[in-house]
Amino acid sequence: MAVNRRKFLKIGGASILAFGAKPAADALGISPTEWLDEKLGGFTIPETLLHLFRKPAGSVAGEALTAKRWAMVVNVRALDEEIAEACKEACHRVHNVPEIDNPKHEIKWIWQEEYEHVFPGQQHEHVDEALKKLPFLVMCNHCFNPPCCRVCPTKATFKRKKDGIVLMDMHRCIGCRFCMAACPFGARSFNWIIPWPRAGAEEERRFKGKEPPTPDYPTRAKGVVEKCNFCAERLAKGQIPACVEVSQELCKKKGREPALVFGDLEDPDSEVRQLLRLHYTIRRKPELGSHPNVYYIV
Ligand code: SF4
Ligand code: SF4
Repeated sequence: MAVNRRKFLKIGGASILAFGAKPAADALGISPTEWLDEKLGGFTIPETLLHLFRKPAGSVAGEALTAKRWAMVVNVRALDEEIAEACKEACHRVHNVPEIDNPKHEIKWIWQEEYEHVFPGQQHEHVDEALKKLPFLVMCNHCFNPPCCRVCPTKATFKRKKDGIVLMDMHRCIGCRFCMAACPFGARSFNWIIPWPRAGAEEERRFKGKEPPTPDYPTRAKGVVEKCNFCAERLAKGQIPACVEVSQELCKKKGREPALVFGDLEDPDSEVRQLLRLHYTIRRKPELGSHPNVYYIV
């Protein structure tokens, strides 16, 4: 059953409690892990890599995952088309991101880009051809200094103080799209049309099976902006982000290092900090000073 805008407002109020109250994965009845279990057989992973697949340090089963500053590390060399596609599918499924035939109206929370578009400042004629072919996963960077939040006239988008996640309060969004203009990463999408099937719109915008796949996660209204929320609703239930969970299951099966790792940037013992110590990483457009919290191992 679709949750319309009015219901979403009622459920969500003016805060991100809308995302925390009804975890999307629970509503599905299955977790991304279970979904993958149906598809995958047994796997093996070298013991030396197992620590990188842990939940964020300090987490307690069933309790909300907390951090002072959430961050993600994307190991592009551990990615392939299958993993990248599974990340996108999992994210869009648990957040009711619809499939749209018209590319002008597309909604994206996580997607693949080519190296030259992700790191235009790092592009030169001698860049490794293999690197150019890797599927770079991009999403909202949950910037430490987010320009999108500064320009929003209604504070519909804001950085959560306790952990730095940049969130949307959908019912405060007036659709001015200032945030979209301010984001240098194209991380935000605008809902040009209503998100559920209706006469005349069905051929353009729909969910697989015609209904939102996660009934308890709110669908969005026409005229609002949306983007990746670092799975705030899942963190509130002690679950890691859907894309991270799915990618780690696939990486385990393939016997490779995790392609996505999530953790507390301010915890020196967290998995993300371990990776940042071990590897040279880059962030998108550092010259702009937004300080992305998504790091890339290339
Ligand atoms: S990536 Fe864009 S939308 Fe996300 S926090 Fe940074 S500026 Fe805002
Ligand atoms: S963190 Fe969550 S919302 Fe963001 S891209 Fe990954 S699955 Fe989607």
